Amino acid sequence: MPPKKKTRGLCEGQRTLFNLGITQENHSEEQEDPTETPTETEVRKEVRKFQSNWLTTFPWLRYDSEKNAMTCDVCVKCKRNNTFTHGNQNFKTSSLKDHIKSTDHQTALIVPNLQDNLKKSQEKQQSGKDRAVTIALKSIYWIAKEGIALVKFRSLLNFLKSIGVEDLELLSLSPGITYESDYAAHEFLSSLSDAVEQKTNTVLAESPCITALADESTDRTVTHRLVIYAQTVNPISMQPWTMYLTNIELVEGTGAAISAAIFEQFEKRNVPKSKIMGLGSDGASAMTGRDRGTTGMMLRENPHLINVHCIAHR
Ligand SMILES: [Zn+2]
Repeated sequence: MPPKKKTRGLCEGQRTLFNLGITQENHSEEQEDPTETPTETEVRKEVRKFQSNWLTTFPWLRYDSEKNAMTCDVCVKCKRNNTFTHGNQNFKTSSLKDHIKSTDHQTALIVPNLQDNLKKSQEKQQSGKDRAVTIALKSIYWIAKEGIALVKFRSLLNFLKSIGVEDLELLSLSPGITYESDYAAHEFLSSLSDAVEQKTNTVLAESPCITALADESTDRTVTHRLVIYAQTVNPISMQPWTMYLTNIELVEGTGAAISAAIFEQFEKRNVPKSKIMGLGSDGASAMTGRDRGTTGMMLRENPHLINVHCIAHR
């Protein structure tokens, strides 16, 4: 025969025993009967206490013995506002089960996952944009090296999209803002140019000595121009490396003007004149003259200069 409910339908004799403190065990999980007298409820609350096995059953549960209160680790971490974040003293299994079902606790369980998913989504989106910008930069670099007009940038991107290159659609942030425009192409080119310049200046700074290579020419009109390269030495491997520096307009094609232009170009890059140990050219008189030629003018600044003329055409 099943045991009778201990708090319901107590006969007079049982009530008397109850009031005297003689009760049956394991009554702590029962629902309170609103018809019970306050004295009965008080007596039953006295015997309810925290059960350590709840910590295993409910992994999120924490118990503070000093405060004699239970808290929910999940809700506390999620900064929820309920009795299990303040300290719950209702030591009943039903109280814990009710908390599990509560919207607050369910929300606290979901929020970390949502935040994690959002973070992963943002990272994926960001890495996609990074890849798209890298492809755009490489495209600009290729266009520049091949001497192709920058206006072909969008056409090249459309071609890459058509052959299945992924993430390029991320270059269009909105209908009005896109990294596919001619303006963006110039910005990319400018950024690449800055990076190359920085690299060039670093190599110049590290090289123990430098040879300036220069060649004079004219453009389609009769404007004098000077193209300047620098031959450097890697201080560790001792391998030479020739780098393009600039192609500038000259006021006149004299040795003095060429010499001044070469020194000015290196000065802009913080290279001292004493570091320029050689001059290479095609051997034209404006370059080789030791009196008024470029060699002569440069020797005045650096007596240790070595001529390496005629390397280009002879
Ligand atoms: Zn909770």
